Amino acid sequence: AAVDNAPAIVIGSGYGGAVAALRLAQAGIRTLVLEMGRLWNTPGSDGKVFCSTANPDQRSMWFRTRTEAPLATFLWLDVVNKDISPYPGALDRVHYDNMSVYVGRGVGGGSLVNGSMAVTPLKSYFAEQFPTVDADEMYRTYYPRANSMLGVNTVDPTWFESTEWYRFTRVSRKHAQNTGLKTTFVPSVYDFAYMQREAAGTATKSALGQEVIYGNNYGKRSLDKTYLAAALGTGNVTINTLEKVRSISRASDGSWVLTADRIDLTGAVVETKQYGCTYLFLGGGSLGTTELLVRARDTGALPALNSSVGAGWGTNGNTMVGRANHLWDTTGANQSTMPVMGIDDWANADNPVFAEIAPLPTGLETWVSLYLAITKNPERASFTYDSASGRVKLGWTAAQSAVSVAMAKKLFDRINSANATIYRYDLFGSTSKVFADDFCYHPLGGCVLGRATDDYGRVKGYSKLYVTDGSLVPGNIGVNPFVTITALAERTMARVLAEDT
Ligand code: FAD
Repeated sequence: AAVDNAPAIVIGSGYGGAVAALRLAQAGIRTLVLEMGRLWNTPGSDGKVFCSTANPDQRSMWFRTRTEAPLATFLWLDVVNKDISPYPGALDRVHYDNMSVYVGRGVGGGSLVNGSMAVTPLKSYFAEQFPTVDADEMYRTYYPRANSMLGVNTVDPTWFESTEWYRFTRVSRKHAQNTGLKTTFVPSVYDFAYMQREAAGTATKSALGQEVIYGNNYGKRSLDKTYLAAALGTGNVTINTLEKVRSISRASDGSWVLTADRIDLTGAVVETKQYGCTYLFLGGGSLGTTELLVRARDTGALPALNSSVGAGWGTNGNTMVGRANHLWDTTGANQSTMPVMGIDDWANADNPVFAEIAPLPTGLETWVSLYLAITKNPERASFTYDSASGRVKLGWTAAQSAVSVAMAKKLFDRINSANATIYRYDLFGSTSKVFADDFCYHPLGGCVLGRATDDYGRVKGYSKLYVTDGSLVPGNIGVNPFVTITALAERTMARVLAEDT
């Protein structure tokens, strides 16, 4: 086992990890980032780095023999998923009892595979979820910093109104308006100037070429183009890829000891490495970070971690649903993969829902209006360590998903009734499934700010150990979460660099 030492180690290269790496490096601290996924910079035999959703190959998913796309079927036919060979692909679907969670794998984490929606939550809801955080300071300093670093932009409203690529969005907006519901444009990290060139035929299509959940070859400002490029540009950051941290412990001198498995492209462990560092930043995401800490506590490696580690996990109230449109309400064969609008009924105190108008980019007319609803589901679950299997389990129940479904159903029943439309029954696998209740895109919590950590992400019970990712968010933030994760990480790094180093 080799020993590599850096003053600071960051586990994971998603939003939380990328912010930590950049700010450490700018402070002159040599930083090593350990990322279990690969670096996505090498074209395959088709000349592309990533594959499209229409033609998934081994690059699509993390060590699978068949893809597991969120929409399992179309007209009840299993036409969506394809056989693939196992490979460290960009999208993973982590299966727990009653819930599977989609996450990104690779340098850039979730930014490689997500829908680019860059949404700042309502200040009042942020304050409700983070009562110990100064919301004024967040909205004055850290949200603007995150938005600017991430390269957030908005679609040109004139182009939006005229392009065939957003007809599906305009149709859903009309149906919302017929229901008396408010819609709002959603900002994005996809470069809309590039998208307009795609539409004009002067740039290679990516968002307009059915690329999204398995990666975008062009147009998207993923973290490898923003925070991580800046971090590497300092000369102080090294990123080791295909290295999965298996355990963390503390040496007698108080430094951190990590054990990591380095895998090859077949998934075989080719080396087990030990690392040591003074400052350890956990950016493995809600699942990755929480799993490492729950295991460390319950195997006795870090016994002083408190009982809040593993708790407070939620799905951001996620549920997907499709509506069937009238024959004259075509949504278009051509659909951009990047959503730009949401139905905003969050102010409805009886049933707060924010529903993204999602594309179904098949290249054919489908008459489907698809949505990713974010509901104010108050249900939370915990991760626990199962010593018999050595695995970390999630205690989410089907009844907890049913709460999200019931909230979304209330909203979409209204939309269907106002437009004399019905649900689609053919999209999520079984003949009766209307709402996707078994997967989520927005895993949040597990090491909640102010409970498992102090108010700045310092893990309680130990010094020089920090959480900077989505595990800090208490299960729900009411909108898509990556801007909030980035802004909180900026806040943590500002404080930690000023006080702890
Ligand atoms: P992640 O981005 O998940 O990064 C964690 C990284 O750590 C990963 O690269 C992982 O491989 C690595 N890692 C984990 N464990 C280990 C370990 N033990 N050792 C080494 N490396 C490890 N959010 C939005 O705001 N807008 C959207 O439009 C949106 N759309 C989405 C669409 C999809 C399909 C998905 C899956 C997610 C979407 N999200 C969206 C959610 C968003 O991507 C996540 O909230 C965000 O990426 C979480 O950031 P993070 O820093 O907590 O962790």
